[in-house]
Amino acid sequence: MQSIDNFNFDGKKVFVRVDFNVPLNDKFEITDDTRIRRALPTIKKILADGGSVIIGSHLGRPKKGPEAKFSLKHIVARLSELLGQEVKFAEDCKGSVAEEAVAELKPGEVLVLENLRFYAEEEGKPRGLAEDATDEDKAAAKKAVKESQKQFTKDLAKLADVYVNDAFGTAHRAHASTALIADLFSSENKMFGYLMQAEVDAVEKVLKTAQKPVTAIIGGSKVSSKITIIENLLSKVDNILIVGGMAFTFAKAQGGRIGSSLCEDDMIETAINVMNKSKELGVNLVLPTDCVAADKFANDADTQICDDKNIPDGWMGLDMGPASCAEMAKVIKDSKTILWNGPAGVFEMAKFQEGTKTIAEAIAEATSNGAFSLIGGGDSVAAINQFGLSDKVSYVSTGGGALLEMIEGKDLPGVKAIRG
Ligand code: AMP
Repeated sequence: MQSIDNFNFDGKKVFVRVDFNVPLNDKFEITDDTRIRRALPTIKKILADGGSVIIGSHLGRPKKGPEAKFSLKHIVARLSELLGQEVKFAEDCKGSVAEEAVAELKPGEVLVLENLRFYAEEEGKPRGLAEDATDEDKAAAKKAVKESQKQFTKDLAKLADVYVNDAFGTAHRAHASTALIADLFSSENKMFGYLMQAEVDAVEKVLKTAQKPVTAIIGGSKVSSKITIIENLLSKVDNILIVGGMAFTFAKAQGGRIGSSLCEDDMIETAINVMNKSKELGVNLVLPTDCVAADKFANDADTQICDDKNIPDGWMGLDMGPASCAEMAKVIKDSKTILWNGPAGVFEMAKFQEGTKTIAEAIAEATSNGAFSLIGGGDSVAAINQFGLSDKVSYVSTGGGALLEMIEGKDLPGVKAIRG
């Protein structure tokens, strides 16, 4: 596989697929530019070699063609500021507008193309179907867009000599610019960017070449959204810590009284299977034993520490209790490889952040003692940032869905398209 470090981009025009799907406020100002910053090393390497960079990205979820609020022109000024040079903009991602802008692009220059998702062909999904469309109409529309997607992909590919994918956040989508386009470049002329490579390496360090003991901490609100991850991890880890709202489904599955805590009754059977499977495999499944229970879902609620399996009616567990915090922290500090996804309580409210903070601090301590730690998924990343610990862990992933699918054991189309 071609590597960006070994490639000399001198004189090349390079299509770089990035994920600049950044949050904007109502004045179209960027409120968090992490995704742009994380793509800078790739862009800078190409420019330093004497290549020119053609940036392709999506922004938001346009559903009816061009819309000003989803225009990538909103990111041009920030990118220019971060790179310290002028950045050009093409008001279309393909066709004569894009081709002319690319033709004028000189070595060392950067061009941002307009939002790729202004075309339905990027995602390959039909748009604008009538509400009363029949299944036949839908199938015909799908076929038509798949057909025109081939030409769209060719139109993008012909803009460049080299294809670089640095859009890990979109790597779980088999879209024109994230996967299909790679087939139109020879294996020497397509590669991961630095961010994509780092993300893939981090996950593989946890799932494939991990140093033991390996600990996964899975939290958040729902068992149902994390069950595939839990099942895939059971054969790969030594310890699995289940925290957050989802732990109450496990408490109920063991016959506990959980008051009005979060619970998915249709996942109780699944929770029992997970507990049995972990025993079978010799995996240490750690569940919280106590919680901070509240009389309402609010920061000014009255609270009491309860046994996780004996919560009074009308009370709900919104955070881990002190005994659970101590036990979880010990397991984490004894680990050599750590994966964390999902908070241990309603950390957005100061009153219920202790469990999540304890986990973040234990991971930081384990990391300072030589463990490798990967933090991923929107809420755990928000938490680690909130506690100011993001530079005390080994790797903070930029990928939400993409990271989770990789941990579930799926082959990501964007990764496969380059690596085979
Ligand atoms: P998820 O989106 O499934 O990863 O869950 C993240 C959300 O779970 C966060 O917004 C937390 O506030 C919430 N959460 C964590 N623990 C609990 C709990 N014990 N009860 C209710 N919500 C929780």
